[in-house]
Amino acid sequence: MVGSIIDGKQHAINLRERIKIATDNLISKYGITPGLAVVLVGTDPASEIYVRNKGIQTKEAGMESLEFRLPEDTSEEKLLKNVKDLNENQSVNGILVQFPVPEHMSQQRIIETILPSKDVDGLHPVNSGYLASGLKGMVPCTPQGSALLIKETLGDLSGLHAVVLGRSNLVGKPIAQLLLKENCTVTVCHSRTKNLKEVCLSADILVAAVGIPELVKGDWISPGTTIIDVGINRLDAPEKGPGKTKLVGDVDYNGAIKNASSITPVPGGVGPMTIACLLLNTLIATCEQNNIEFSKLGF
Ligand code: NAD
Repeated sequence: MVGSIIDGKQHAINLRERIKIATDNLISKYGITPGLAVVLVGTDPASEIYVRNKGIQTKEAGMESLEFRLPEDTSEEKLLKNVKDLNENQSVNGILVQFPVPEHMSQQRIIETILPSKDVDGLHPVNSGYLASGLKGMVPCTPQGSALLIKETLGDLSGLHAVVLGRSNLVGKPIAQLLLKENCTVTVCHSRTKNLKEVCLSADILVAAVGIPELVKGDWISPGTTIIDVGINRLDAPEKGPGKTKLVGDVDYNGAIKNASSITPVPGGVGPMTIACLLLNTLIATCEQNNIEFSKLGF
């Protein structure tokens, strides 16, 4: 039996609609409009697209969008001063610095300069500490979006074996923490893991966040597995015409869908959930900063 497709685009539309309603309630009940500041250093084309989409979707959700574009040769000191100013700015509830930043800057120093309460990317060590301790904090957007897709697909995850490929701070580790919180038995694999195929075959839920095109083959999937493909890899696609490219995930989609019970496509799977979760984090951060109970917004 061929597996079903987990339509991340539609899930994200539904989530953004709920966020818009809650934001409208926040504005009408409390007179507070959430503000999200996005800082982009340089002119990386992919980052430009992400930042533009974030701005559009922030406004569509009824929030204030502030964009700061700094030249490639901006000093780290100047960027950190910019971040500190945003920390102080009362109308800014969430701060996101678009990564990657130019090589002369320390990504970690930037992350640690953002106030944990405004860290809507959820990467500050204070927030990763909260997540690791099972406490409330800002959860990184892509892992949060992945976990939402899994829960909306499967419901109760208790006792299921979740295999996570990848152990980055951005994706793999936080996804593993979220699935542990949902009472999964979690196996985290990485570049040194032996017998990767056998481990994948034992999964009820398989999350691939590696960055290697189609690493996971169809015969690595046991019947009934739910697959979340976080990978985004751009490959040449001469079949589409000269100079054309295509996006593929970390899973061989056509091979895996024959065995999986459900699978996210690339594109159109996890990707759209990332910005939706960024908006959710901005809304939650606004509530926390103003001592407003999030549950009162009708979300
Ligand atoms: P990363 O390079 O920081 O981490 C990759 C991880 O994969 C590492 O932990 C490494 O140990 C592991 N790995 C490498 N080779 C492996 C192998 N052969 N077997 C098992 N594990 C192996 O990457 P990242 O930032 O975690 O991103 C992973 C992928 O997710 C990338 O394709 C990235 O583009 C994508 N991504 C997507 C979104 C989204 O919105 N959908 C967001 C962030 C990242």
